Amino acid sequence: MKYYILFGPPGAGKGTQAKFMVEKFHLHHVSTGDLLRKEIAAKTPLGIQAQQLIEGGNLVPDEVVAGMIENLFASDRTSAGFLLDGFPRTIRQAEMLDEMLAKRGEEVTKVVSLMIEDSLIFKRIANRAQIEGRADDADPAVIQNRIDTYHQKTEPLIAYYKKAGKYCEIDGNQTIEAVAESISAAM
Ligand code: AMP
Repeated sequence: MKYYILFGPPGAGKGTQAKFMVEKFHLHHVSTGDLLRKEIAAKTPLGIQAQQLIEGGNLVPDEVVAGMIENLFASDRTSAGFLLDGFPRTIRQAEMLDEMLAKRGEEVTKVVSLMIEDSLIFKRIANRAQIEGRADDADPAVIQNRIDTYHQKTEPLIAYYKKAGKYCEIDGNQTIEAVAESISAAM
């Protein structure tokens, strides 16, 4: 099975691009953010635990998201593969992903990274706030915390996947169509 990671800061366009790629390549789209928002809406114990962290722009514990991912891998053996959107977000999560794939004799196929300027992140998220109404998109202080968290905890993954020879970077400042073409070519 293929295991693609769509990587990038909040607001880079991962969700938009993921929708195109899953259709084109017959992949299972796994967005940990979407899964967590569903848990919150359903008021499950996991959702109740995650809500405050998400609304403050902080990460949910590594074990929680890794557990969700492992369950999904176990439950779908029919797709051509998975497109991970928003996971991994820390080095520990990347290590856990490597471990769970190694147990199956598999590995990450490729990391496609969408890079945009911090100044564009605010514009994109403000735009999305009007369309999707996400609580964590509404408050500039929360957006700033998410950007800072990205730089501190998620950006080190670039070096991790470069070292593994799996990293490929795409200019996310282009139009949606141009970004989609670049991602398709990379995949
Ligand atoms: P997203 O929809 O990917 O922007 O995720 C929204 C929020 O969900 C993030 O700001 C985090 O609070 C939480 N979240 C999503 N994915 C992860 C992850 N892999 N690790 C920790 N927290 C996550």
